[in-house]
Amino acid sequence: MAIVVQKYGGTSVGNTKRLQNVAKRVVATSDRGNSVVVVVSALGDTTDELIRQAHAINAKPPEREFDVLLSTGEQMSSALLAMAIDALGHPAISFTGAQVGIMTDATHTKARIVEVRAKRIKEELDRGRIVIVAGFQGVTPDEDITTLGRGGSDTTAVALAAQLGADVCEVYTDVEGIFTADPRLVPKARKLAEVSYDEMLEMAATGARVLQLRSVEYARNNKVTLHVRSSFSDEDGTIVKEGDESMEQAIISGVTHDSGEAKVTILGVPDKPGVAASVFRVLADRTVNVDMIIQNVSEQGFTDISFTLAKEDLSRAKDAVADVVAQLGAKGASYDEDIAKVTLVGAGMRTHPGVAATMFEVLASNGINIEMISTSSIKISCVIAAEHVGTAVQALHEKFGLAGE
Ligand code: ASP
Ligand code: MG
Repeated sequence: MAIVVQKYGGTSVGNTKRLQNVAKRVVATSDRGNSVVVVVSALGDTTDELIRQAHAINAKPPEREFDVLLSTGEQMSSALLAMAIDALGHPAISFTGAQVGIMTDATHTKARIVEVRAKRIKEELDRGRIVIVAGFQGVTPDEDITTLGRGGSDTTAVALAAQLGADVCEVYTDVEGIFTADPRLVPKARKLAEVSYDEMLEMAATGARVLQLRSVEYARNNKVTLHVRSSFSDEDGTIVKEGDESMEQAIISGVTHDSGEAKVTILGVPDKPGVAASVFRVLADRTVNVDMIIQNVSEQGFTDISFTLAKEDLSRAKDAVADVVAQLGAKGASYDEDIAKVTLVGAGMRTHPGVAATMFEVLASNGINIEMISTSSIKISCVIAAEHVGTAVQALHEKFGLAGE
């Protein structure tokens, strides 16, 4: 019997009616002769609400307790789904992450899965039950509950699919798949039939919010085929798998954007060996994750260093930057929260020259100034003013012919 892992996101299980709809889908998959394991997210915005409550009680909640609290969202939806399936006359059983042996390290709020002991799941599948697992959580060897970071239910599903040797890991969400651009910005955006792991990793890292980045890494490392699709329709979604010859070899697969970053510039830094090292060491020690970095040409022995980071890390970064400025005798620092990053992603870029030039021409012809640039072999990102993000994404989508015929 084929094993199918299905993951349903928070909107897909947002209320009683939607939970019943999910239950019907799950039972139908089982009736087609599959062994079905379902991973659920918390209902709707339960996680946000739990975070709000925690901070209302304690500005700095102990991380261990924070994880105990947050994991309850998924525990609730998994039990409700098991009840909904039972109401349809099909045997089902729900488990927490700890109960099915999702073993993690002890990094509370963003723990990493180190081992999956799916023994109990296999026993229940053999009994003919549908198994529901609460997503986003695991347990340490010391039996403390952990959570896997926002969006972590995707990673739970991929880890179970890998461990169980599932044929496919279906990720049900409120969009129909992976699109060539965010359809809210580009109404003509097209659903992609297939994308490679490498492209999906770049897309997830540069603003496509459909899959948690870590779940794509896990899928690539363990060769788990993902099918991202909507729980509100029967249409096929997007398959994420190893890139190969048979894949549609588009030069560009998509345009992503991210308005969640801010830019920091440290002005008048003495230009000598070790300076960049000390700047980024101080930031790293405060666990500030830096994305793009630019060091300008130096003038009379001084230079400016700019970098981007998640807006939510900005206040922590400001403290670190103040220390750096004092330590290095720099002239000061400036901060800009009104930026956006626009990125072109495509495996065909490796072998096609001129993509960067075309991207810069498109931005220039729309009067958009480029503040920073960074590239990998299959992506080009530009930082621009936030107000131009819509225009930039639409113009790039058009110029690279992503809407198709
Ligand atoms: N409920 C968690 C979150 O909102 C995990 C998930 O949905 O994947 O981030
Ligand atoms: Mg999600």
